[in-house]
Amino acid sequence: MSALNRLRAAARSDMKRWGNPDLAWRACFSTDGTDGPTGVAPVCRDEGHDPDDGSVYVCCPGPVIEVESAPLAEYLAALLNTDCPKEA
Ligand SMILES: [Zn+2]
Repeated sequence: MSALNRLRAAARSDMKRWGNPDLAWRACFSTDGTDGPTGVAPVCRDEGHDPDDGSVYVCCPGPVIEVESAPLAEYLAALLNTDCPKEA
């Protein structure tokens, strides 16, 4: 198993305790007052949370990672989603 495969498997296993077993990510508003979403967080599956709402509420699984750049947040979320597609 390559180092990347080993790290991905460990992260996938660890994320289950955060309520994000499929490792789906989104860019999010982790800091008030920013013009764009400058954080990265797991996708929230709560039925009361509109999927188009980029905010973070108590219903949302963690961790929320602030990266201080909307383009970087979008890129990291896309990269993580490409690297870790849903488990079959
Ligand atoms: Zn939520």
